[in-house]
Amino acid sequence: MAKKIIAGNWKMNMEHAEAILLVKEVADFCKGQDLHLHDTEVIIAPPAIYLQEASKITSENRRLSIAAQNCSEQDGGAFTGEISATMVKNVGVEAVILGHSERRQFFGDTNELVNLKVKKAIEKGLVPIFCVGEMLEDRKNGKFKEVVAEQINEGLKGIHRTEIQQVVVAYEPVWAIGTGETASPEQAQEMHGFIRNLLAKNFNSAIAMDISILYGGSVKPDNARELFGQPDVDGGLIGGASLKAESFNELIRIGKEVLR
Ligand code: PEP
Repeated sequence: MAKKIIAGNWKMNMEHAEAILLVKEVADFCKGQDLHLHDTEVIIAPPAIYLQEASKITSENRRLSIAAQNCSEQDGGAFTGEISATMVKNVGVEAVILGHSERRQFFGDTNELVNLKVKKAIEKGLVPIFCVGEMLEDRKNGKFKEVVAEQINEGLKGIHRTEIQQVVVAYEPVWAIGTGETASPEQAQEMHGFIRNLLAKNFNSAIAMDISILYGGSVKPDNARELFGQPDVDGGLIGGASLKAESFNELIRIGKEVLR
């Protein structure tokens, strides 16, 4: 059975004091939520500079962890500005978002590079939150499944059956990220079902059932219930609504209640 996950991607937002306050507010909320009873996990992905401090705050709660928003495919060396998977792991981080559409669009993260990063993260013991999703144009011309299939096939190429269970997949239609427009629950389910079948084909069906597939794209407290209620939606990757304790904590509460 796939883990139920509510993950927040802060992107390049929050100054230091507000960032630490928000981690604390989420940590305090999670304490009272019996997340283990509901088999739900919460992940926060702050900017890299706050990872170590955030990890210290969340270290006591095994259901709440910290993710990086990216890491290098390299082990180390002369790569100015980069952060390795080992460095991220060393400061108590457990997961890393890889292949986010903003990295693909603005920083040249191709399917091939994302594949190298996913492999490096696995090798170093991090959980890759591997993002896929089509552009508006692919949705309009009916090529969305093709695009996502290619991202999955190439991004997870060479990953062994024993390793894939460490991976979380996030389906994030690019046209729904930060736009206020969200996929309908039917569109989300259609794509999540498609991804699960593809994973079953590439690995096997038992493995595919155990892989968490998160939906991302303008998830908010007022649309989460329906999206999280879809059978192949195992949680959410949340951008804008993860920047305020009120909305993110509400999404955790809804997730705990609705995700099955
Ligand atoms: C994201 O960036 O992963 C995301 C889903 O953003 P938003 O929720 O703001 O659309």
